[in-house]
Amino acid sequence: MNKLLIVESPAKARTIQKYLGNGYKVVSSKGHVRDLPASEFGVDISKAFKPKFVLIKGKKNLVHEIKKMSKGREVLLAPDNDREGESIAWHLAELLKLDTSRPIRIVFNEITEHVIKEAVKSPRKLDLRKVDAQLTRRILDRIVGYGLSPLLWRLMKRGLSAGRVQSVALKLVCEREREIFVFEPVHYHKIYVVVNGVKVPLVKIGKKKLKPEDTSSQEKLDVILHDIRSSVLKVVSVVRKESRRTPPQPYITSTLQQDANNLLGWSAAKTMRIAQQLYEGMETPEGNVAFITYMRTDSTRVSETAKDAAQKYIEARFGSQYVGGKEKRTRKSKTKANVQDAHEAIRPTYVDLDLEAAKKLLKGDHLKLYSLIWKRFMASQMSPSLYEETAFALETSDGKYRFEISSKKRIFDGFERVFGSSQEKVLDLKFEEEEEIERFELLTEEATTSPPPRYSEASLVKALETNGIGRPSTYATIISTLTDREYVVKKGRELIPTLIGFLVVDFLERYFPRIMDVGFTAKMEEELDEIEYGHKSRLKVLEEFYREFGPSLKDVEGRVGSREISPVYKSNAKCETCGEVMEVHVGKFGPYLRCVGCGKTENVDPTGALLVDDVVVVTKRGEERLGEKCPKCGSELVLKKGKFGEFVACSAYPECSYTRNVRARGTCPKCGGIVEKRRSKKGRYYWACVECDWMGWNEPSQHFCPSCGRRLYYKSQRGQEKLYCEEERMWFDPSQVL
Ligand SMILES: [Zn+2]
Ligand SMILES: [Zn+2]
Ligand SMILES: [Zn+2]
Ligand SMILES: [Zn+2]
Repeated sequence: MNKLLIVESPAKARTIQKYLGNGYKVVSSKGHVRDLPASEFGVDISKAFKPKFVLIKGKKNLVHEIKKMSKGREVLLAPDNDREGESIAWHLAELLKLDTSRPIRIVFNEITEHVIKEAVKSPRKLDLRKVDAQLTRRILDRIVGYGLSPLLWRLMKRGLSAGRVQSVALKLVCEREREIFVFEPVHYHKIYVVVNGVKVPLVKIGKKKLKPEDTSSQEKLDVILHDIRSSVLKVVSVVRKESRRTPPQPYITSTLQQDANNLLGWSAAKTMRIAQQLYEGMETPEGNVAFITYMRTDSTRVSETAKDAAQKYIEARFGSQYVGGKEKRTRKSKTKANVQDAHEAIRPTYVDLDLEAAKKLLKGDHLKLYSLIWKRFMASQMSPSLYEETAFALETSDGKYRFEISSKKRIFDGFERVFGSSQEKVLDLKFEEEEEIERFELLTEEATTSPPPRYSEASLVKALETNGIGRPSTYATIISTLTDREYVVKKGRELIPTLIGFLVVDFLERYFPRIMDVGFTAKMEEELDEIEYGHKSRLKVLEEFYREFGPSLKDVEGRVGSREISPVYKSNAKCETCGEVMEVHVGKFGPYLRCVGCGKTENVDPTGALLVDDVVVVTKRGEERLGEKCPKCGSELVLKKGKFGEFVACSAYPECSYTRNVRARGTCPKCGGIVEKRRSKKGRYYWACVECDWMGWNEPSQHFCPSCGRRLYYKSQRGQEKLYCEEERMWFDPSQVL
């Protein structure tokens, strides 16, 4: 055992030890060993932003042990292959007083016997630029956090914090909540011509794409229906073509987090935890095995070895026509320019360890995530699927109204063989071009435009990536910080900003607009890349940042100290005692309402309030905003819980007395009308159509059964809301159906 190899995690150490055998001693540093101090600023701005590093608490004995082991041994540093890993390696080198001019660093993207044995043969020098980039991020975050957090403590309450990137992410969530709040829904109609039982939608009027506004009133609708009825419909085109659907790229960190959130309901943090275990190696009946490549990456590159292995597997299993990669594909993506370094996509380390084989070694969450990764990778190496598409277009004789629909028949499944998800939709339409249709039926459906959805972890990660904020190593932490600080709460998969979240964003946007600027934050990420590429120095980046941030921090500190800035907001609430307006203040326990007249105070439901146009809009306890407007007065509608169950009422009560029953999320399965929740004389709830005689125990959804095509209903299975097919008595997870 003449060589010492240091990694950052015990599981990784075990897996590597197994492959390197007796010539090596593999030990783990158990994460970072040194960092900026926890109890002081630790950056000397006057001395070129010199950081002060201290041993992390509890690491003293471990470092002592490693030092002892390194005596008389050649040391190799093998933390993960990214900036964070490079920086751990550098700290270790400093502590062990290693000669950094010598090749002491090894890197790899996967922990397999072959790769590890090759890697130890070709160590390189530490990449000090990478270390610098990481150090700069750490110092920047420290300067911002240490500057802003105490201001929030003085103004609002202790324990709050403001991070550089997480505050921008919080801003995105707050902005979305506001958009939803001010959204004005349009009620409109969809129009179809029904031929052979197939609904062909109206898509254009006078060559222009149909908009909800075109059919938003009964008068407009009547004119259109009259026009169409008094005309003959003609089939103006029947176009047949073959279309191919290309397989997806293998996973990168952001897409893996999105899919795990959408398909498994996991948080980004959980996804990364499970992925890390799969990467580092897990105990199996066959010893420690690492199942996937490194999980923090924004590269879709696949190594030649893995490509070859996949090809062999696909050929043997499915036949050579399923082997993909014959056509060159390039990914057009905004993130392209951001690719951090020469990583690989996230893929299985042993390509032929398919789902059957994996079931013997993995279970539970690990098997679930591995299945996603294996399928996606295998699909990415397979051929496109082929469809025969027939597009039909019908027009009224004057050409004013145009209906379109297309039928898709799959003629070759390609990658969909492993990936599921067919796009086949075969319609029973046998139109000939120029054919005239004299007898047809028109159908209208009521619809309402809906506001943009709240962010889920998946869509927030996507938004961060699209805006160039954060990196594969930081997405998960950014989001978990927001929920840990209770700036955001999760309801199901939705992220809802709390009132304190709104107030923090408002304060930062007012006084530190640059910090809250999406473009500026993205530019800082690019500057860090520049440091890594050697185009910019750490000192220059820090100086440029501080030249602006330093003075504005000092200025705001002064104004907060002299009480010139204080967080008091107007609200929409009226005092129940004296009728005066109430203001929102922030105290030790968070935001509360205070009457300007009699001084009475009241709690605010943290997720029932938001800040719009400098006014805090609160909903009362036990009420929930619906994101819908009152048809009588235009105020917000809220869900209330009364003695006889839930009902919908106007938030302007008592001025406006509008109420109605709770409505189903789907329409009537019989007539397409509105379905309401009602209570029987015996107190049991049921659902009933307001337009026809349909009734049922289960709430209709807007989804259809993937197996039989009939309507699905919401029903709870072991306390969890699922979709249920009443015909086939089958359960579906909401993520499984379209
Ligand atoms: Zn009062
Ligand atoms: Zn109203
Ligand atoms: Zn009905
Ligand atoms: Zn069914």
